[in-house]
Amino acid sequence: MPHRHSKIVATLGPGSRSPDTVRLLAEAGVNVFRLNFSHGNHDDHARTCEAVRAAEARVDRPLAVLADLQGPKVRVGRFPGGEIRLGFNAEFDLVAEETTQREGVIPLPHAEILRVLEEGDRILCNDGLITLDVIAGAPAPRVRSPLPGKLSDKKGFTVRGKALPVSALTDKDEADLAFAMQLDVDFVALSFVQTPGDVETARALITNKAPLIAKLEKPAAMQHLDEIIAAADGVMVARGDLGVEFPAEQVPIIQRRIVRRARAAGKPVIVATQMLESMVEHAAPTRAEASDVASAIYQGADAVMLSAETAVGRHPATAVAIMSRIISATESAEDYRRALAQFAGEAPRDTAIDIVADAAFRLAETEGACALALRTGSTRRLARFARRRGTVPVLYGSNNTQRLRRAALFWGVNAYRLEDPDARGWAGALRETAGLEGRIAWSAWKGEDEGRVTAWEIGLEG
Ligand code: PEP
Repeated sequence: MPHRHSKIVATLGPGSRSPDTVRLLAEAGVNVFRLNFSHGNHDDHARTCEAVRAAEARVDRPLAVLADLQGPKVRVGRFPGGEIRLGFNAEFDLVAEETTQREGVIPLPHAEILRVLEEGDRILCNDGLITLDVIAGAPAPRVRSPLPGKLSDKKGFTVRGKALPVSALTDKDEADLAFAMQLDVDFVALSFVQTPGDVETARALITNKAPLIAKLEKPAAMQHLDEIIAAADGVMVARGDLGVEFPAEQVPIIQRRIVRRARAAGKPVIVATQMLESMVEHAAPTRAEASDVASAIYQGADAVMLSAETAVGRHPATAVAIMSRIISATESAEDYRRALAQFAGEAPRDTAIDIVADAAFRLAETEGACALALRTGSTRRLARFARRRGTVPVLYGSNNTQRLRRAALFWGVNAYRLEDPDARGWAGALRETAGLEGRIAWSAWKGEDEGRVTAWEIGLEG
């Protein structure tokens, strides 16, 4: 049985999507593989997904696939010669065009955004490397570059701290979503979510076929944090774009706020981006990177994520192995449980399922059980058990492949196939599969009435 509670999400890309590398990454400890729809085409993603399913059979452990949609990333248009030079204090008109041949003009093919620009707004392009100050607002916006630089075709464009009037899902996202559903992915991640309504729009398209992870990277999302967490099935602290929208010193503070609120609500939370960034090139992380991964683990994140490190990096399997070692070491540290408790967050009023989960864990912990075996047909109910951050591992048993795969994202949950979940001695069978010994506590969902839990069984075996 794996010896860690927090899980690893790894992004696949040109450097890692061959079947052999995917298998190596799975063997090194990946639980969830991310297909990044900002890059690659549908054929690439189909082959990558197939490679994950093949690796799953080899490692004999459920592996989930998360399809990450590009979202409404706003980009500048195209320049004559592919780029323009921004002189010190140079001024430019912003125009709603896809391409321009004119000098002194920056094309932005989004008239709706030009309409909301106001004097004093600060524009960031190319992941924050280029700054432009708005010196005249709509209807004829004009900007000044405070520092010299270069801006090339199709670089990202955002306005710091401003909610932009863009739809949650682009035409490309809708096509990618339909394709991801054909691939039978286990989770869908939505980029640049600004409101709970954005999550609902995507949910209507998915028709509940996959849980939705809201990527939190926009200031507007932070103003609706609790509602977005409530609307989504999980959240991601997307620190790449978050660090463009907010100054760097705010990112760790926002990360802690999100982790606390998501944990309190019982929704899985992934901490993402630049966790072991130097391993894109080097075979070992910096001390600061090891410390960053450990911080997320001390906070009790369900998962930590690798992006470029595994998608295009030179040492993808080493990055996973090192991340796994950092997680295990942190979870064994003497101050781990104390830190974990500090990030539990202020829980909303407990529901029946929280009371059942609490009772089941208390039984397991008081009786010195080796694990808590769990049987439920719903990933949402499983999430309420994971929320408890118990000191005994959860052994989740099901004969439903997709539920087993989805369980791979949750803190402290180990999923195993149970051919007949209703058979007597199912908890003992899970214990044996997990290679554990001793008494085992168990909890099984028995039924509900109009959405309210009416019966759970809790017991102790062996
Ligand atoms: C991020 O911005 O941190 C992120 C996870 O999204 P992407 O990698 O798609 O930019």
